Amino acid sequence: MSQAIQFDPIRLPPEAEELRLEVRDFLSEEIANGGFDPHRTIMKSGFDREFSKRVGARGWIGMTWPKKYGGHERSFLERYVVTEEFRSQNAPVTSHFTADRQSGPVLLKYAEEHIKEDILPKITAGDCCFCIGLSEPNSGSDLFAASTKATRTDGGYLINGTKLWTSNAHQAEYMIGLFRTSPPTKENRRHGLTQFLVNLKQPGITVNPVRNMAGKHDFNEVLFEDLFIPDDHLLGEVDSAWKQATSELAYERSGPERFLETFYVLPELVRVIGQKPDARAAEGIGRLVAQLHTLRRMSVSVNGMLQAGKEPVIEGSIVKDVGTIWEQSLPAKARDLAAFVDDTPSNRSNFDELLQYATNIAPKLTIQGGTTEVLRGIIARGLGLR
Ligand SMILES: Cc1cc2nc3c(=O)[nH]c(=O)nc-3n(C[C@H](O)[C@H](O)[C@H](O)COP(=O)(O)OP(=O)(O)OC[C@H]3O[C@@H](n4cnc5c(N)ncnc54)[C@H](O)[C@@H]3O)c2cc1C
Repeated sequence: MSQAIQFDPIRLPPEAEELRLEVRDFLSEEIANGGFDPHRTIMKSGFDREFSKRVGARGWIGMTWPKKYGGHERSFLERYVVTEEFRSQNAPVTSHFTADRQSGPVLLKYAEEHIKEDILPKITAGDCCFCIGLSEPNSGSDLFAASTKATRTDGGYLINGTKLWTSNAHQAEYMIGLFRTSPPTKENRRHGLTQFLVNLKQPGITVNPVRNMAGKHDFNEVLFEDLFIPDDHLLGEVDSAWKQATSELAYERSGPERFLETFYVLPELVRVIGQKPDARAAEGIGRLVAQLHTLRRMSVSVNGMLQAGKEPVIEGSIVKDVGTIWEQSLPAKARDLAAFVDDTPSNRSNFDELLQYATNIAPKLTIQGGTTEVLRGIIARGLGLR
C-alpha cells in the first residue's frame, strides 16, 4: 500500500528546552569534575556503568515509561533533548542506551508482568545493559532468513546457532534475540521467527570478540549451544516476530544518535578554521550546518509523530538514510575544508586525530541499523514504487 511522506512541523515544547539546560549543567559538571572524558568516549569506549547509574539517578533513562516500572512518564520530545545533548557532548551512554531506546520498550509491550517488574527498574537505574541479536552469518539485511533455532523442550526452548555483529554482547546482561521456531510458509516467508529475552550470563553461550576497522572491540559473534530459555522469556507471539518489529524500527532509526556519531568533527573544524574563514570555508561550514539543521527538524518531527501515536516508518527510514550519509561524509568534507588552513601542528593535532578516527569508523554508519540500500527499498515500497 502506498502512502505519502509526511513530516509534521513539530517544535520542541518549552519543557523540553528547560530540560536541555538541566542536562547541559549536568554534563558540564560531569566533564569538569572528571565524571567522564569526552575524548576518551570517542576514541576508546563509551561504556561506563557508573556514568549510566548517575544518569539513571537523574531520571533520564526510561523517561517515557510508566512510573510503576521505574519510568518517568515524560514525553518522547523530552527524551529527544536528553539524547541530543548526550550525543553532542560525547557522553558515554553505551551501557544503557540500547535498553533505553529499544529493549525496554519491547519488554514493556511483550514481556510477562514479573519480568517487567524485575528488569525495567534495573534499566532505569542505569544498571542493566542489553544487546540486540538479529544478524547472523548468513542473514543481515534479510533478517527473515535467520536460522538460529529455538526448539521446543520441557518448560521452554533450546537455542542453537550463531548471532553476528552483536554490539556489546560482551558487556550486556541480556539480549533480545530473534530465533527460528518454525520454517517459513509458502504464503509468508517472514513467518516462523520469535523474539526471546536471553539471559547472557547462563551456560550455553560463548561470546567471541570481532574487532572493527578502528581496532575497537564493540561487536561480537555469539554462539548458542543448547542454551535453555524458559517459557516466560518468550516475547509476544510464537512465529510472529515480524509483526512486532515495525514500530520498534522507527524508534531505532530516527533519533539524533543516527546523525551525530561523527558530529565532534564539526566543532573542531570550526575551531581550527578560526574566526575569519575565507569564502570557501565559510560556505562549506554553512552548508554543513544548514544540512544538520534540516536533518534535526526532520528527526524532531518523527519523534513528535511517535509521541502522537503515529507510525512514521518511512519518515524514520528517510532520517536514517539521509542522516547517516551526512555523518559519513562529514570527515571527508572537513578534511577538504581544512586542507589549506595555515595553522600550527599543535593546534591541529586534536582535529587531525578526531578526523582520522571518524574516517575509520565512517564506513559502518550506513550499515548499522539497516543498510542504505535496504532502507531505500522500504521507502520505495512505502511510496508504492515497488
Ligand atoms: C557497527 C555495527 C553494529 C552492528 N550491531 C548489530 C547488533 O547489535 N545486532 C545485530 O543484530 N546486528 C548488528 N549489526 C549488523 C547489521 O545490522 C548488518 O550488518 C546489516 O543488517 C547488513 O547485513 P550484512 O552485514 O549481512 O550485509 P548483507 O545483508 O549481506 O548486505 C551486503 C550488501 O548488499 C546490500 N543488500 C542486501 N540486500 C539488499 C536488497 N534487498 N536490496 C538492495 N541491496 C541489498 C546491502 O545494502 C549491502 O550493501 C551491526 C553492524 C554494524 C556495522
